[in-house]
Amino acid sequence: MTERKIALVTGGSRGIGLACALELAKAGCDIIINDICDAEKAKPALDEIKACGANAYFYSFDVSNDEAVKENVDKMIAEHGRIDILLNNAGITKDGLFLRMDMEQWERVIKINLTSAYCVTHAVIKYMMKARQGSIINMSSVVGLHGNPGQANYSASKAGLVGLTKTLAKEFGSRNIRVNAVCPGFIQTAMTAELGNIDEYLKAIPMRRLGTPEDIAKVVKFLALDTDYVTGQAIEVAGGLII
Ligand code: NAP
Repeated sequence: MTERKIALVTGGSRGIGLACALELAKAGCDIIINDICDAEKAKPALDEIKACGANAYFYSFDVSNDEAVKENVDKMIAEHGRIDILLNNAGITKDGLFLRMDMEQWERVIKINLTSAYCVTHAVIKYMMKARQGSIINMSSVVGLHGNPGQANYSASKAGLVGLTKTLAKEFGSRNIRVNAVCPGFIQTAMTAELGNIDEYLKAIPMRRLGTPEDIAKVVKFLALDTDYVTGQAIEVAGGLII
C-alpha cells in the first residue's frame, strides 16, 4: 500500500485554504492545517477534513514569525514524518490608496503575505530535499500580475510571491521539488465580503460570476497531485477577468 501524502495548508481553517485542504483530503492526502487562531476555532475545519476520510491535525502559529514557524514545522516532522505538499495560503489585506498608505499598513501586509512564504518554505524545504520530492504552491493573486488601485501593498506582496515561485522552481527543480503559484481573481470568501455591490466586478468577468474557493482548490489539487512536470508557473484562476 502506498503511503498517504501529507499536505500542510497555512491559513487553512476557512475560505480558500479550507477548500484546498478538503480537496486534497478527498484525493487521499492527510492534512495539517495551520492558522493563527486557537484550536477551538479550528475544530469545525478539522472535523470537516476528517469527514473526508483523512487524518487532520492543527498547529496554531503566526506564519510570519520565523522562530514559531521553525519550531512548529520541526514538531510536525517529528509527529508525522514528512510534508509532501506545502500550500502557502495565509494572507491578509489592508487596503488604501498609496498616498494615504502608512508604513504599518505596508509592512504588515508584506510580512504576512510574502515574508511568511520565506519562513514556512525555508523551514519545510530542507525536509523535502531529504525526501527528494515535494510540491509547493504559493497563493498569489491576479493583482500580483496586473496591479489594482488601492492595493499597492497587497499587489506588491503577491507579485513578490510570483518572483519567489519562479526562483525556487529554478533552484529546486533538480531536487524533484516543484514550485508553482495560483493567482485567483475575485473569489467568494470573507476577504471579498466587503466588496459591496459586485455588479461592476461581474461586468468585467467573462464568466459572469465570482469564483468559489472550490474553483481554486481544483487547480491546487492539479498542481499538487496530478502533474509531475509543471513548475515555475503562475496560473490565473479568474473566470477570464484578464485575457
Ligand atoms: P480569508 O478567508 O481571510 O482566510 C485567510 C486565512 O489566513 C484565515 O484563516 C486567517 O486566519 C489566516 N491568517 C491570517 N493571518 C495569518 C497569520 N499571520 N498566520 C497564520 N494564518 C493567518 O482569505 P481567503 O479569501 O480564503 O484568502 C486565502 C488566500 O487567497 C490569501 O492569501 C489571499 O490573499 C488569496 N486570495 C484571495 C482572493 C479572494 O478573492 N478571496 C483573491 C486572490 C487571492 P484567521 O481566521 O485567524 O484570521
